[in-house]
Amino acid sequence: QAKRQGRNQFQFYSPEINAQLRQRLTLENELHGALERNEMLVYYQPLIDLHSKQIMAMEALVRWQHPTLGLVSPTKFIPIAEANNLIVPIGEWVLRTACAQNRAWQLAGFSPIRISVNLSARQFELPNLVEIISQILQETELEASNLELEVTESFLMADIERSMKTLKQLRELGISLALDDFGTGYSSLNYLKRFPVNMLKIDRSFVQDVMTNPDSAAVTDAIIALAKSLRLNITAEGVETQEQLEYLQMRGCDEGQGFYFSRPVPADIITQMLRQPVVVCQPKNNRWRQAG
Ligand code: C2E
Ligand code: MG
Ligand code: MG
Ligand code: MG
Repeated sequence: QAKRQGRNQFQFYSPEINAQLRQRLTLENELHGALERNEMLVYYQPLIDLHSKQIMAMEALVRWQHPTLGLVSPTKFIPIAEANNLIVPIGEWVLRTACAQNRAWQLAGFSPIRISVNLSARQFELPNLVEIISQILQETELEASNLELEVTESFLMADIERSMKTLKQLRELGISLALDDFGTGYSSLNYLKRFPVNMLKIDRSFVQDVMTNPDSAAVTDAIIALAKSLRLNITAEGVETQEQLEYLQMRGCDEGQGFYFSRPVPADIITQMLRQPVVVCQPKNNRWRQAG
């Protein structure tokens, strides 16, 4: 009887949801050991100074090269990794890999740029986070000023006093701090001015329809104005078109990141970009390309 009922209930799920659940279970099982099997990769996406057009930084974005599923997006596996704490070793590996890569670019003779690494709430909660990070900087011989950590308001707000303390310690090491996906959390402007961060990253959802939705434009303008009055640097995420770029330039946004400049790509492709670190406009095909 129970079995029959269970079977009947099972039919409430659409085949599509069923497939999604199965995929999630597969990912969850196979995520254990993925690091050890060398299946994690770090891609890099440049952040461009909107005035000088120079490459200022790279954001490190993890991918999972799954043996049968191909390249798995972090939006699929990071939530799973966060749920079972695998994000701690994965996040540490991304940090070490990204810092070592940034140092390797310097040793190859390129002028120093920042490497920006996303932190998960689980990592932020580690009592020895500051030690782990300063250890990685020593190991990779990267100067703290060439590392930026991206945090989100939502996890800072979970324990404000503790967050304040950790952020302060990271700043004291010389690391810069960015608030990622800004505008999507429950921003408390009161805390914003007390969090010792250097950079706000306007969430892609506002940039995406800045030209078509007056509300998004208003939010974008307000965030830029807020950053300026708090003397924070400001980056726009998800710049995809020339029009968005021009809008952001006009509003005085400092840096931009998005498919318009480059998708996230493997390190060797970034190395080629760094050979011509200034991007120039190619009006003919309405796209930006590397100068040279
Ligand atoms: P995020 O930190 O906000 O990273 C920006 C995301 O926007 C990236 O997605 C990037 O590929 C995408 N993006 C950049 N420019 C454009 C654009 O012009 N158009 C569109 N449509 N998308 C653009 P990705 O690489 O899939 O990463 C998704 C999220 O996964 C990241 O969002 C971040 O929250 C998380 N993530 C990625 N790597 C790590 C990591 O190493 N650790 C942790 N904790 N989270 C990570
Ligand atoms: Mg980010
Ligand atoms: Mg973001
Ligand atoms: Mg994010």
